[in-house]
Order: sequence, then structure tokens, then C-alpha cells
Amino acid sequence: MLSEKQRQKDREKFLTTRRQFLKLGTAMGGAAGLFALMNKKHTAEAVTSKALGSRVRQLGYEEGWLGTSRIVGPIQRTSEADHGFYLAARGFFGEDAKTQVTRFIPKHPLGGAISSMRTFIATEAAVTGNPAQRKLSIPDPKRMTEHIKKTAKFLKADEVGVGILPSYALYTHRAPPLPKVLYEGSASLEDLTPVVNNHPYVICILVDQNLETMLGSTGYDGISGSQSMMSYLTSGLIACTLAAYIRNLGYSARAHHCANYELALPPALISAGLGEMSRTGESVLHPRLGFRHKAAAVTTDLPLEPDGPIDFGLREFCAKCRKCAEHCPSGAISFEEEQTVYKGYMKWVNSIEKCTQFRVGNRDGSSCGRCMKVCPWNNKEDSWFHSAGAYLASTRSGLAATLLKEIDDMFGYGTEVVEQYRWWLEWPELY
Ligand code: SF4
Ligand code: SF4
Repeated sequence: MLSEKQRQKDREKFLTTRRQFLKLGTAMGGAAGLFALMNKKHTAEAVTSKALGSRVRQLGYEEGWLGTSRIVGPIQRTSEADHGFYLAARGFFGEDAKTQVTRFIPKHPLGGAISSMRTFIATEAAVTGNPAQRKLSIPDPKRMTEHIKKTAKFLKADEVGVGILPSYALYTHRAPPLPKVLYEGSASLEDLTPVVNNHPYVICILVDQNLETMLGSTGYDGISGSQSMMSYLTSGLIACTLAAYIRNLGYSARAHHCANYELALPPALISAGLGEMSRTGESVLHPRLGFRHKAAAVTTDLPLEPDGPIDFGLREFCAKCRKCAEHCPSGAISFEEEQTVYKGYMKWVNSIEKCTQFRVGNRDGSSCGRCMKVCPWNNKEDSWFHSAGAYLASTRSGLAATLLKEIDDMFGYGTEVVEQYRWWLEWPELY
């Protein structure tokens, strides 16, 4: 009989060998990328710098579509108070969810510490204000867009995109910032404010939740809430700073982040070319980061040149893959091949109720990001496997998607817990 210690040692050895094998072929990744660039069958206009081999088609804005999401419209705008955690706080998902929603992040000491910092950027003074009275002379929209993106990267954004603000992304009403309701009790959930926002553009910012931490986590242990909060706080801080900078130039700008939104981010992210809607039905998947990110945005009237939506073959890939649905601990994600109509557009509809109940009620940790962990697009190590994989996926072939998902499963990618990356401490007595 093997001892537990020996078993663990063997597993570590297997993972290390596998990783070395995957990394060995970096040159093959280069070849795959070259092949992608030379392949005449696809008319790609853009290739992301980091997703080697991934073909990303720039789509522009077309009536009846937002990127690869079909609009059968009119799209119904929603109230912020009708979104997951607000519904839990309002008692729609049962008594346990109502109680647990106030503690599912703070119960982990690190998640709670990061989350508490969000209250400083939740205020109106942090997200908005009057523009400077004198407008400064600015470069043309193309150069200004490049400058804004570089500024966001300087502020530590991992990805930045600019889009036309879809009017349906705006909430009908804004609820009070969640940290103020949940943790401070200083605001009432009934206190709704109508949203009026006429900004033509949206700048979107992504912050990575950290690959190694994700590899060391089950996706629903104690670090999950901290990963979310870290990226929420960082992207929110970047958005507030960027909006303040734009106002200093004499233009109107408002930051939107997890502690103070006027909009639902997914349509804004798609419009800004930062990804396609995934099978999860809620998360926009980026070709390099997967959905291992949190996002924030700035809406503005600063003259900019929008990037426009992109297509890297995700819709076809998700139709076949279903890996997130197979591994979701709450059964919230659809297994259907076809998308269905939801509030005026097509998507895979998941159960917000099941997902929220699991995340707030998780007794094995804090929150959940299991779908994010297992998604093949999340695992972006510097290996030929992912370079070749990104290329194959972007060919939009159902067969390639099935094959890739099976290879991903065969290598245990996305489901392994790599002990060497578990740097944090668990506090199970608090769960
Ligand atoms: S966050 Fe967790 S519970 Fe929610 S859909 Fe993803 S895997 Fe399922
Ligand atoms: S796991 Fe598969 S089905 Fe789910 S979002 Fe990722 S690619 Fe799509």
C-alpha cells in the first residue's frame, strides 16, 4: 500500500514531467503561430500579441449582432437590484443565501481585508465628478486611444479595450454599493437611483486573477474570494484613476467597478473587443486570459477610436466543450448545444440562483471560480500545447474543439491542484 505522502510525491512528479513535456515544445508553438499567420483560408485582421497562434477576427459593429452574440432584440435593460448577490441579499434565493451573502467574502481574513478596501472607491466622489473647466488640446482619436490604453497599462491593467457604449448595457436603476449594504449596513436595498448616462464610449480594463494561484486552487477553496476581490479592487482603482485623469483633461468620465456600477459589464466588454460571451452565459472570455479576470470600465465623451468586437471561434468551441458545465459544483451551467433567447439576445442561459447559492453558501471555502479554473482557455502556460490549441480553436471547427477538450482532459489540465502554488493559508474553522 502506498502511503499518502508517497502518493502525493508521485503526483507531483507526474505533474512536473507533464509540464516539462508541454514546455519542451515552445518552438512548436512558434511554428503553429507562423502557420496561423500564413494560412490563407482565414481572413484574420488581427492576431493578439500574447495568444500565439490564436486568430482573432476584428468584427466591427453590425446590426443584429454584438460581436458573435446574436441580438433578436429589443434587449431589456435590467435593474442592478435584480442581479445575483442583490437577489440573495433580498431573500429571493432562500434564508441561507440571505444570511451567507453578508459573510461569504469577509469570512476569509484575506478576502475580507481586500474587500473592505473597496468601500474607499465605492463613493460617488471616487467614481465621478465635474470635468476641469478648461479642455486641454488632445491628439486625434486614434492617438488618444493608444495613449489611454498605455496609461491603463501603466496603472497595471492587464488588458484594455475601447468600444461604443451599447445603450442596453446601462442599468435602468442603480442599487446602493453592495459593500455599503452588506458590510456597513449604511444603505438600504430599496434605495434605487435611475441611471442617466449619455457617454458614447466605454473603456474596459481587465485584471488577471493570477495563473499560478488558480493552478494551486480547487477553484472553490478559501483563495477563490480573494482572487476575485484582488482583481475587482485593482481594476476598480485603475478605472477611478483613469476617469479622474480624463476629467482633468476637461472631458466627462465615470468609473464603473464592482462596488459602484451604472452598467452590466458583459456587453461593454464585448463591444470593447475584450472577448466573446462564453457558455457560462455571464462571463466574457478573453482569448489570452480565458475568464480568469475581473473587469472595470470608464464611460466617457473623450473622443476615441473604438476597437470593436472580436471573434476567435469561442461560440463554436463552447458549443462542443461543456467542460465548465461538467465541473460546476452547483449544476448551474447549461449543457445545451444551442443557445436560447434571453431578454432579447441569444445565449446559454445558466441558473443564477444555483450559482449564487453555491458561491455564498460554500462551506469548503469562500466563493467559487471552478468554471474559470477548468476552462481550457484559462490555462495559458508558455507551452506548445496552448499555442497550438489556441490556433486550432480559432479555426471554428467543432471537431477541433472536441479534440482539444479531450486532450485538455487527458493531461488533467484545469482540474489539477498543483501543491507548489498553494501559497495561502486556509481557515476552515471560519467556513
Ligand atoms: S462560479 Fe462555481 S457555481 Fe457558479 S457557475 Fe462557476 S463553477 Fe458553477
Ligand atoms: S469550459 Fe469550455 S464550454 Fe465552458 S466557457 Fe470554457 S470553452 Fe466554453
